[in-house]
Amino acid sequence: MPQLLFDTLKQAFGYSQFRHGQLEVIQACLSGQDTFVLMPTGGGKSLCYQLPALLLPYVTVVVSPLMSLMKDQVDALQANGIAAEFINSSQSREEIQDVIRRLRNQQLKLLYLAPERLLQPDFMSRLAEVGVSLFAIDEAHCISQWGHDFRPHYTELAQLKQYFAHVPMMALTATADPATQKDISRQLNLQQPYVSIGSFDRPNIRYTVQEKFRPLEQVVNYLKQQEQQSGIIYCASRRKVDELTEQLASKGFQVAAYHAGLTNEQRNSVQEAFKKDQIQLIIATVAFGMGVNKSNIRFVIHFELPRTIEAYYQETGRAGRDGVPAEALMLVDPADIARMRSWIEKDENNSRTEVALQRFNQMAAFAQAQTCRRLVLLNYFGESSQKPCGNCDICVDPPKQFDATELARKALSCVYRVNQSFGMNHVIDVLRGSQTSRIHELGHDKLSTFAIGKDQSHDYWLSILRQLVHCGLLQQDISQHSVLKLQEAARAVLRAEQKLQLAVPRLVQTKASSSSKT
Ligand code: ADP
Ligand code: ZN
Repeated sequence: MPQLLFDTLKQAFGYSQFRHGQLEVIQACLSGQDTFVLMPTGGGKSLCYQLPALLLPYVTVVVSPLMSLMKDQVDALQANGIAAEFINSSQSREEIQDVIRRLRNQQLKLLYLAPERLLQPDFMSRLAEVGVSLFAIDEAHCISQWGHDFRPHYTELAQLKQYFAHVPMMALTATADPATQKDISRQLNLQQPYVSIGSFDRPNIRYTVQEKFRPLEQVVNYLKQQEQQSGIIYCASRRKVDELTEQLASKGFQVAAYHAGLTNEQRNSVQEAFKKDQIQLIIATVAFGMGVNKSNIRFVIHFELPRTIEAYYQETGRAGRDGVPAEALMLVDPADIARMRSWIEKDENNSRTEVALQRFNQMAAFAQAQTCRRLVLLNYFGESSQKPCGNCDICVDPPKQFDATELARKALSCVYRVNQSFGMNHVIDVLRGSQTSRIHELGHDKLSTFAIGKDQSHDYWLSILRQLVHCGLLQQDISQHSVLKLQEAARAVLRAEQKLQLAVPRLVQTKASSSSKT
């Protein structure tokens, strides 16, 4: 048996070896067992059903949510001389009729479909007539409410096991935490499936999280060190993509924007130019990346947080496919976190808001964690791991704590002196003794706290104030333009009844901050 599999691998796909996990899944599937394949993107999931499809007597039906991916896969299969087709709404009636005719004549080995098409009753009975050898459910996490990309049509796939009780099923996904994995198996009614879980570790990617102080300057400095290597910068909104694209272009970087607001042609041409190394840098929303098979992406920057750890993993995972060292850099500003929380509360429909918020909170916690980034990621995906990785910002440069009692008292009393009516930047200006006209107008240069923090840079204070918010000594009142308010816990520190440890701020060396004491 394995010899036949190796021969098919070689002849039909041109590969000489199976990747980790593939052979076992294929054997289980060919023996008629249900299978569950959890492998990271790029791990080689498709082969797990494509190869069996060639050896099984009837058609293999592949359920896939994305039209563009269907087409890419079918094109690639046809180029290898494999009888594969898809049916979706981009085709004319004649084209669809033609595919159905070939299906009826038993001429197809693989048929790609969206779930809503598959589940039409007359289509199901037609399939029952011609016979199905295997159902492959791609992006299977779409069936789960717990997953990050729930698609209602997917839940109807639960019917498949009723109609086709004896047809083996393969569920495939690249993104499922343990709760979602269980839910997928249960909903699809998988019968004692063979479960294959690939490793999610991407050892060549260095994960780095930086506090966001002067985002544009931080990005520009970073890009200058990259020497024209390929990279992607992800932003949370189209507006931000356009703005950053313009700013970087005006600084002489050759960049292109990519988001759903552009026409199909514009997007295709950007993607093509990127693939061919004609453009090195793409500024994009989440819309970019599906199906971008470019192996030499050296860095992925998150200018704003993604909404879920899955999205973060997927997006950073586009870096370093060639195995050469690559970096994932995320810039984090607590204000972004608060803003995105309010977006999520507004834009999701009711039943999903709670899950979306929980997922986002996990993402925010990752960004603010002081533990090895890779450990947090791997444990999130259920790959229990305890050994710090040595290749993330936390491992390379562990956060140091220091006695910040005195600094905290300065900051807290300054918030008090400005009547808890100003935001971070103004409080910092007072602390640092800035001679701005606003300060003079308000008479804040007369306050006892004016200039008591002049030895520290702006960014240093920003980090301290943010940490005071994190530890619950200060609160930013969102309803009042984020003015800083003292919290009950601040009292003991102000009265010197309690000491306070904070993390030493990790400042980026920029022209503006390198001269000041940190
Ligand atoms: P996934 O669906 O898990 O994201 P794909 O199925 O698209 O990954 O596979 C990723 C890439 O790996 C594809 O280019 C595929 O041709 C290639 N690949 C898959 N299996 C093998 C193998 N056994 N040997 C070499 N390359 C492989
Ligand atoms: Zn680490």
